[in-house]
Amino acid sequence: MHYSTKLVSIFVVVSFLMIFESAAEEISKWSPVAPYPVQEVYYPGTEKLQPNEIRIVACGTGMPQPRLKQAGSCYLIELGNGDKFIFDMGKGSTERLSALGIPTDQMNKVFISHLHFDHAGDFPSFWLARGVNAARQPLYLWGPGGGQNPDWGIKGWADKIKQAWAWDVATRESSGDPRSTQLTVTEIDWKKVNHLFYDENGVKIYSIPTIHVDQSVGYILEWEGLKLAYSGDTAPNKWFLEHAADADLAIHEMMLPPDMWLDKYSMSYEAAVMSGTQGHTTPRAFGKIMEITQPRMAVASHMQNDFDTAPILEQEIRRHYQGPLSLARDFMVWNITKDKLTTRMAVANPDSYPPPAQVPAQPPTGGDNAYQWDPFSFTGLEKRTSAVTNEVVQEFNDKHGTDVEPVLSSIPFKSE
Ligand SMILES: [Zn+2]
Ligand SMILES: [Zn+2]
Repeated sequence: MHYSTKLVSIFVVVSFLMIFESAAEEISKWSPVAPYPVQEVYYPGTEKLQPNEIRIVACGTGMPQPRLKQAGSCYLIELGNGDKFIFDMGKGSTERLSALGIPTDQMNKVFISHLHFDHAGDFPSFWLARGVNAARQPLYLWGPGGGQNPDWGIKGWADKIKQAWAWDVATRESSGDPRSTQLTVTEIDWKKVNHLFYDENGVKIYSIPTIHVDQSVGYILEWEGLKLAYSGDTAPNKWFLEHAADADLAIHEMMLPPDMWLDKYSMSYEAAVMSGTQGHTTPRAFGKIMEITQPRMAVASHMQNDFDTAPILEQEIRRHYQGPLSLARDFMVWNITKDKLTTRMAVANPDSYPPPAQVPAQPPTGGDNAYQWDPFSFTGLEKRTSAVTNEVVQEFNDKHGTDVEPVLSSIPFKSE
């Protein structure tokens, strides 16, 4: 006994020295001029994805209730094969996606879990912003089809968005590539379980129904032996338990406990119970779901993640689940390979510009649908100020050797 204790102590001392030694060696690599060998945060655009690696960036972890620090649900999924997917596009998420400095055309596949505005509200903004944000390729959209009212499916919804924003598209036509507003919509049968509806380039995406409202789904993405599950909005459901089991990253919705709805949103007792427990998942049930499905990393999303809520949320989750856990915040980032899973925060760029487009621009299509000005607007132009604008255009043309014709400011005075 004594002998083995001694051996153990020697082993501990030796191990400690080895750790100390390797740490010292590591520190010596921290050259004052070279990039640091370890990044505690993710600086977008500075890290190459490995061929077998997935990076997921939370671009919205919030709720219908408006909050500056949490956009509606939105997750950007980037694969080492170059594919990028966006799961949900809740209100406020477009700015966060833009803050990552990714070419707009590379973010052209959007999957909506259901048509509540905290999951789909920023889609019109994202779609319309493409033309003025260097997009020159069409956009693709997937989402649940109609249930009791076919018009409530994602196709009917997208058609109405096109109608509602027809004036914007027409009036902006001259400033964007005509391809940027092209939209292809695919409906998913929301009742199908583990339904493989996307199978391209080695990427498989399945849908599962959720218990939130009709026409609501969750998504499961599989690629290179890695699995990502996204619950959408849902009460705990058997389909997630079965098909999202053993995911590398399991993002599941979670609501504040009912007491917090009373305190924070002045709800009635009935409304607090409804909001906190029905058609959604309580933190305690979230813990149970993760205990059953055993992901490599459980991600709780869709809740107010604050200094005072987080400890209570975690306490509730830990009643059942003791494994790896992230309480999602906007710009949280997970890098996943088979061997390694890291969680960090991204340093977003609030002053972002879009990277240059990767294909040449096409001119506006014009034609019968081209926007026609009412001559009335031109009667409001005034010579002294138009002359200043024309001077700027002339300087631009001189500098660039171009012959750009001012469409507006020169019109009434052209012949003078
Ligand atoms: Zn919802
Ligand atoms: Zn929601």
